[in-house]
Amino acid sequence: MTIRIGFGILLFMLLIRCAACKTKLWKYEKIGHGEVLVCHKKRITRIFNLQVSGENIVCTCGKIVGVDNPTFIKMIQNAFVYSGTKSKG
Ligand SMILES: [Zn+2]
Repeated sequence: MTIRIGFGILLFMLLIRCAACKTKLWKYEKIGHGEVLVCHKKRITRIFNLQVSGENIVCTCGKIVGVDNPTFIKMIQNAFVYSGTKSKG
């Protein structure tokens, strides 16, 4: 599902998974194209697995997938994969 708002602003519903074990972590509403560098907490629409260990966000397998911040999760590249309704142009 891709939603087009206004003048070409695209929203993508992404499913974030652990790269190591493929466990579903959360669903994230991303605005626009480009890489997922951070996940803003207010745009995380559903949480499947999200554990906080100190300042780290960890998967159930123990892999660190991000770093916790007050309003967002800074994602660790290569520690997660995502799929979903990414536009093919
Ligand atoms: Zn995992």
